[in-house]
Amino acid sequence: MENFVFYNPVKILFGKGQIANIGTEIPPDAKILITYGGGSIKANGVYDQVKSALAGRNVFEFGGIEPNPHLETLMQAVELIRKEGIDFLLAVGGGSVADGTKFIAAAVPFIGDPWDILAKGAPVTAALPMGVVLTLPATGSEMNTNAVITKWETQEKLYFASPLVFPKFSVLDPETTFSLPPRQVGNGIVDAFTHVMEQYLTYPVNAPLQDRMAESILKTLISEGPKTLANPTDYDTRANLVWSATMALNGLIAAGVPQDWTTHMIGHELTALHGLDHAQTLAVVLPSTLTIKRDRKWQKLLQYADRVWDLVGGSEEERVNTAISKTRDFFESVGVRTHLSDYGVGLETIPAVIENLEKHGMTALGENKDVNLEVVEQILALCA
Ligand code: NAP
Ligand code: FE
Repeated sequence: MENFVFYNPVKILFGKGQIANIGTEIPPDAKILITYGGGSIKANGVYDQVKSALAGRNVFEFGGIEPNPHLETLMQAVELIRKEGIDFLLAVGGGSVADGTKFIAAAVPFIGDPWDILAKGAPVTAALPMGVVLTLPATGSEMNTNAVITKWETQEKLYFASPLVFPKFSVLDPETTFSLPPRQVGNGIVDAFTHVMEQYLTYPVNAPLQDRMAESILKTLISEGPKTLANPTDYDTRANLVWSATMALNGLIAAGVPQDWTTHMIGHELTALHGLDHAQTLAVVLPSTLTIKRDRKWQKLLQYADRVWDLVGGSEEERVNTAISKTRDFFESVGVRTHLSDYGVGLETIPAVIENLEKHGMTALGENKDVNLEVVEQILALCA
């Protein structure tokens, strides 16, 4: 096992009615900014629950944060916060609102152009405190340090991470997710599944506990994902999806093991260039990444075939191939298509993706840092 530091201070308030308890998690004299997206929280009653939990408090609002949140929009919130002296942020929505709010939190005290945090890796030295009310199980943003932000002007999608943007608390009430359309539920299943794969499907480092935890999350997504799509208001099934998505990317299964992230980095460029949903890009890229890197991932692919897909019999080669095709079939079965052509994107995108990865310094991806731009080209060619 590799050395690691594990730190996760996020307080989770899980279950029905937990939004009512957020008042006590926020300092009594705080000037609070509620941030949200395009209006789903007004349609499904979450906004009303939040407002009543914060009745009598000093509350401002900033809506309109779009999926794949835009720098340009977030900077308007930064201006408002600086003008009003707001000192606590409450993100209410999906991963985009949570990520966008993390960026806002870091941007407010930042001296200089906050885009440098993403484009130049400028250090985050301070951030406003924030909480999250999560309405879409997928990203793990509610319990991690990461945020992915899009600069609309230049079609760039980049990420940053800082322990200063860990939420102080996150509310996970599965009932707030009942209003999700099937496309977003499927997206969430694929995003969480891919998060686990990026931390699990690498090479063995003799970390059986992390492996078994990763495999548990994968198996839970495989069993509960289709059930919650079929019965979207069944509480326990949805609760299991919500908790699986959080556990998929909160640092726990990452401890002491190598990490890949090739699929995510290529996926970010595809979203920036073509507007595909985050999970759609992952469903397209992951099977190809596994195929192209199968030699160096061989042992873990066999373990994945055995323990996650229960494949017995046949040659090693057959089991590896079947495990990869089962991954693709699973994504398709939860409604997320797995070929670029399904989204009207052709192979002509390859030079643009390569150029952007190069511009962003992503020229040595993967757990072995051997996914160079030539290998990315091979992966993308297989995505067609
Ligand atoms: P999202 O972009 O936050 O939301 C997608 C759509 O779902 C929005 O239109 C939103 O509508 C709607 N929605 C959310 N909750 C709803 C509900 N309960 N009922 C009905 N509609 C609802 O989706 P996401 O998958 O959670 O986040 C994707 C973003 O996170 C991407 O930018 C991705 O790159 C990033 N990401 C971050 C991490 C991380 O570690 N931080 C990891 C993976 C991906 P409204 O706008 O109207 O609310
Ligand atoms: Fe993701």
